[in-house]
Amino acid sequence: MKERPSALVLGAGIMGLCAAWALLGRGFAVRVVDQTPPPNPRGASVDHHRLIRHAYGAQAGYMRMVDDAFAAWARLFADLGEAPYVQTGVLAVDEAIREPGGGWLQQSRVALRGHGLAVRELCRQSLPARFPMFSGDGVADAFFMAPGGVLLAGRIVELLAGHLAAQGVVFETAEVAEVLPQSLRLSDGSTRGADALVVAAGPWAPRLLPGLAGRVTASRQIIIRLAPPPDLAEAWAHAPMLLDLSPDSGFYLVPPVAGTPIKLGDHSFSCRGDAEEDSREASRDEADAILALARRRIPRLDEYQRLGAAACYYDVQPQEEFVVEAIAPMSVVMSGFSGHGFKFASVLGQAVANALANPHLLPALPGWAAGREFPTPESIAA
Ligand SMILES: Cc1cc2nc3c(=O)[nH]c(=O)nc-3n(C[C@H](O)[C@H](O)[C@H](O)COP(=O)(O)OP(=O)(O)OC[C@H]3O[C@@H](n4cnc5c(N)ncnc54)[C@H](O)[C@@H]3O)c2cc1C
Repeated sequence: MKERPSALVLGAGIMGLCAAWALLGRGFAVRVVDQTPPPNPRGASVDHHRLIRHAYGAQAGYMRMVDDAFAAWARLFADLGEAPYVQTGVLAVDEAIREPGGGWLQQSRVALRGHGLAVRELCRQSLPARFPMFSGDGVADAFFMAPGGVLLAGRIVELLAGHLAAQGVVFETAEVAEVLPQSLRLSDGSTRGADALVVAAGPWAPRLLPGLAGRVTASRQIIIRLAPPPDLAEAWAHAPMLLDLSPDSGFYLVPPVAGTPIKLGDHSFSCRGDAEEDSREASRDEADAILALARRRIPRLDEYQRLGAAACYYDVQPQEEFVVEAIAPMSVVMSGFSGHGFKFASVLGQAVANALANPHLLPALPGWAAGREFPTPESIAA
């Protein structure tokens, strides 16, 4: 009888877990190696939630990829027997008056309508009438769209790791010292090899793969968690995600779904720090800088309870294009997720597994994952 092909996955964050899930589905015997049992609390995939939305400015490739991602999440959630996703809709606002065709909102609007997605226009007055937790002050442009929402990241990672273990995926806790073609050298000097290798080391990847240095940078980012004043709790229960693209004061907000807190973060990349060395504590100054961005958009912000602030790490590629490519025969790296990768993990994992099962697809991976090549190459995301 023919033996099953084997696959080795470095990293039990959402990328490694989704790759493991898809490789299992393609008939591979899978081993996942991570320095901690999942979830690593210092990894990029922890925390309550992650946003998924079609609005993507001029990056229309990623807008289209969201459809494939939703389809892949549906397949994954069917396997998990639970769907940790809450639809909230997407509210996008901008204070700048842009040239026609310019600006993230306008580029998104054109792409979304071209893709057949309805966008409802809002203005300074109608915005707070529809969403009373937000102010329309200074708003020059705004729209709302119903699709999109919150993936309950912590729950997904927990369920997926448990599901994979139950399906026979081997989880090994060990630090990887070196990535070799189709194999890993562990810090105790032993090696692990397989027919196929996936390296999904999150913000640690540039430390492990010198070829990524300069292309992908670890980036310390701050998030804040808040609870609304009691009299606004009911309004917040129906709040959308907010993408404020205003120059100098832009931020994103995750609404408090399924018992989770409100979360705020900024859009800019610090591109400093070290995923291994640095603390995940945020200083008072770092937290205050994020809150200052939200002050105009969220009235009565001082009445919100501060539940905490934390630092986390992105793996930033300067154009925010994912780096998913062969690094050796039958060896693929997944990196460069730049703070927007979680939503695509399901379909990226499938694409990587499909390409490793059908190596003639490997050359199509980089352009597709960078959001540059559409339609999706045949069989990549299926
Ligand atoms: C605060 C925050 C908010 C975000 N918001 C969104 C959002 O709203 N929407 C969205 O789509 N995306 C979002 N992202 C991005 C998304 O979460 C990341 O792109 C994604 O989680 C990256 O997953 P990963 O598996 O590549 O990395 P990780 O989760 O960091 O996993 C990497 C794993 O590799 C292991 N590892 C690394 N080096 C070694 C080694 N030498 N030996 C052994 N193990 C090793 C680590 O222990 C870790 O478990 C956000 C990210 C953050 C941090």
